Amino acid sequence: MSCLFCGIIAGEIPATVVHETERTIAFRDLNPGAPTHVLVVPRDHFADAAELAEADPAYAGEVLAAAAAVARQEGLTGGYRLVTNTGDDAGQTVHHLHVHVLGGRALSWPPG
Ligand code: 5GP
Ligand code: ZN
Repeated sequence: MSCLFCGIIAGEIPATVVHETERTIAFRDLNPGAPTHVLVVPRDHFADAAELAEADPAYAGEVLAAAAAVARQEGLTGGYRLVTNTGDDAGQTVHHLHVHVLGGRALSWPPG
């Protein structure tokens, strides 16, 4: 199986890593949609949030905690948004769970 984010985790594909824990890694989105746009991923391959939550809820919690740590580290004191697109209708393009951390400007709601 070839997976872009597994390639980044393995160090085979370059990325700007901003935060790491034993089981998570966070790197800047290549195509930022906001002044801060970071992707937080589990180091192990899970297709989406539902798959990870079902397999290992504690691990899902670690991903969420890492996202909060990234927001704190990035200084998003005015607020931020966590997004995890799931499936085609949501526009998921990389099928390795990732939580988008978006902030640094006022964000409109609801998204498209
Ligand atoms: P999705 O659409 O699956 O929710 O989000 C995938 C995200 O991955 C997009 O925001 C896209 O810009 C980002 N992305 C795609 N390819 C790369 C890459 O090679 N490196 C990084 N850092 N981000 C990528
Ligand atoms: Zn993967």
